Parts: sequence; C-alpha cells; structure tokens
Amino acid sequence: MPELPEVETIRSGLALATTQHQFVDCEVLLERTIAFPDSLAFQRAIRGQTLQSWQRRGKYLYCHLSAGVLVIHLRMTGQLKWNCQDEPISKHTRVRFWCHGGKELRFDDQRTFGQMWWIPPDRAIASVIKAWQTLGVEPLSEDFTVPYLSAQLQDKRQTIKSALLDQTIVAGIGNIYADESLFLAGVHPLRPCHSLTATEIAKLHAAIIQALQTGLQYGGTTFSSYVDSNGTRGNYLAVAWVFRRRGEPCRVCGTKIDRVKIAGRSSHFCPSCQPIDEGEYPQ
Ligand SMILES: [Zn+2]
Repeated sequence: MPELPEVETIRSGLALATTQHQFVDCEVLLERTIAFPDSLAFQRAIRGQTLQSWQRRGKYLYCHLSAGVLVIHLRMTGQLKWNCQDEPISKHTRVRFWCHGGKELRFDDQRTFGQMWWIPPDRAIASVIKAWQTLGVEPLSEDFTVPYLSAQLQDKRQTIKSALLDQTIVAGIGNIYADESLFLAGVHPLRPCHSLTATEIAKLHAAIIQALQTGLQYGGTTFSSYVDSNGTRGNYLAVAWVFRRRGEPCRVCGTKIDRVKIAGRSSHFCPSCQPIDEGEYPQ
C-alpha cells in the first residue's frame, strides 16, 4: 500500500500535471469505487469542475475543486494515471475523468479496495469520512513531537509495530516505513509499547522523520502505484535498511535480516541491531 512518501510523490505529480484542468465528464466503471455520494450523483457533481489544488492527509489524497472536494484513497493497488483518452483502458480501469485536449485522469485498481468521495461544498471531509475524524498527527508537521509520541505509546500493551501502523496515532505510516523507522531506532518490532524507554522513544521519533524524508527524497518505492507522466518510478527500495531484505546482510552489522509475521503483516528487522528480551515476546 502506498504510504506517506508514495502518496506525497503522487500528489506532487498530479499537482504539476492536472492543476487548472477541467473535468469535462466522468465515467464510473465500478460503482463500489465511489464511496460517497452514489455513483450517479458523483458523476453529476464532478462534471464541469476545475481542479484547484491537490493535498494529502495521511494516506488520503484530496483535491479542492471549483465546488467541493474530491477525496481518493488508493488502498492496496489503486493507481492514478494522467494519460490520453485514446490509450486503451485495462480490465482494472475503475473510474475515468475526461479533461480537455484529449487528456484523462484514469483510476486503475486491481484489488478494488480503492475509494473516492465527493464532499459537497457545505460539508466538512470529516463529516463524510468517519476515519478522517480520528486521524493522528502528520509525522512531518510540528505537531509530531517526542512528548506526543511518548503520550501515545505509554501504557499501551500492543507491539510497537502495530502502534506505528495505527493511523489514529501517526497518519501515513505503513509497513515499509514502520520497519525502516524501527531499524533506525534499534527497536525490535515486537516490543510492547510500554517497554520503550524515553531514550528509545526519542530515537524512534527522529527515526520516523528520517525514514519518511529519505522515502520522499527517493520518490517512494518501486512498487508504488503511480508512474508519473515521465515514467519515473520511486527507488527507495534500493536503499532500504531492512524492508524486503530478508536473508540479506544488515547494512550496519552484516547479520542476516530476519522477518516475522504477526497478524498477517511481515516485519523485517536485524536481530543484532534490534534485540528483544525473551520475556518481551508477545504471547
Ligand atoms: Zn544489524
């Protein structure tokens, strides 16, 4: 799933390519992609709208239109492509936004978990999208401080990995940057939150910012779902510390990177750089 650096890379690509274009029309090929309102009302609302500015909140993309806001969550496999209308659609094409000059913003989504909302001008996004109300702080904003992170983690019995994936604590982190941050902080992914020392929380806070900024600098990961209009893909995986590097040597100490699966999610870590006491292992 695209995370903060991937979604931010997509956002800046869309901002460059599509700002001030107008949606002449819109075709919904898979109705359940439209979460609000129903697909007919969505198409009616989108028609004639001008794209004014693309923003990001957590893993959500949103665009202020001349009236209302278009919100998009890519989930697992959603892809937004800015291409020509005469380019053949794929069997995964779900929504097409036609613009002037033969251009089109196209939404492809293989697994079909992606969602779109049109928020009317008189409504707040949070009044339509419930999960928006509980989104945690943006990790690259001034609100993300060591005391904030510390307050969120203390007393929690869950593992630090699952806390980092919890969008109500910090918005925009997923599997990649959670693993990378924990490596940089020297914290094992299965440690219970309450066991982290003040020093470890301060290191983790800095590590989260560092991992996300490095991700941004590399334009996200290669399997990120957006290829910009120049065909450029992110290449963060080439420099990843642990993510998808199981069995390869740790870039710091040479120990083989290991992987544990918990609740169906893989966590990659270095057993030497991220030690854990036997008693801290979750039952
Ligand atoms: Zn190591």
